[in-house]
Amino acid sequence: MKKKYPCLFCLSFSRSFKSEEHVLPRGLGNTLKVLPPGVVCDKCNNGVLAGLDEVLTNFDPIKFQRIMNGITNREGKVQPSKHNNLDITQIGPNHLGVVMKSKKASYFQPTETGFNLTVVGGHKITNSYMKKVLRALYKMGLEMVYSDLGARTAYAKRFDGIRKIVLGQQDFSGSVAFVKHPEIIRKAEAKHHTYIMGGKKVSFFNFNYYGVQMLYGMEKRNARESDKIPSGVLDIISVHKGK
Ligand SMILES: [Zn+2]
Repeated sequence: MKKKYPCLFCLSFSRSFKSEEHVLPRGLGNTLKVLPPGVVCDKCNNGVLAGLDEVLTNFDPIKFQRIMNGITNREGKVQPSKHNNLDITQIGPNHLGVVMKSKKASYFQPTETGFNLTVVGGHKITNSYMKKVLRALYKMGLEMVYSDLGARTAYAKRFDGIRKIVLGQQDFSGSVAFVKHPEIIRKAEAKHHTYIMGGKKVSFFNFNYYGVQMLYGMEKRNARESDKIPSGVLDIISVHKGK
């Protein structure tokens, strides 16, 4: 019997479709949905998409939350969080060990109530690195569209650009806003919002990973023209075409 829908990303009907696809990378805990075999082909799943999952799992703000919240990977282990100036390892239940790799005293400062610890990111936030992070977010977004709104919507033409971007077949510009939330929600969740802008449907995602809130658009990918960061937004990271 012919498949009704092709691979969600490469649009191939003929490749093999044996594996299930985790919307949230398994390394980040499996709290979001799983797409059954048949939606994403094995080549995309085990190739490009696995690489993007890896990038998101090791993105510093996420990696930090992963260890602070004791999130286990597929082997049931809490992976150490390695940063430029320090490594954080789980050494027992509710017990973290911090190994300082730098003697710079300013990274660790005792205060009246405890201490301040400054974590220096392991990755330079370059244009090409952030493009990979964004592609990983778009991948998750399209899979959320599929699982929440159904195949008909997920295969709509308006997402064809995202498919190519996720697979690395199309250069792009885009942005992600880091949003301050009044209360820290200690779980992983992705919320989908659809708006009509200029007569066209556009989708936005609010991905929250244990208090790290990232807002990004699937079609409206660029940040607003003005330099002013809207209130409630901590930072906007934009990427541009080219290297
Ligand atoms: Zn595919």
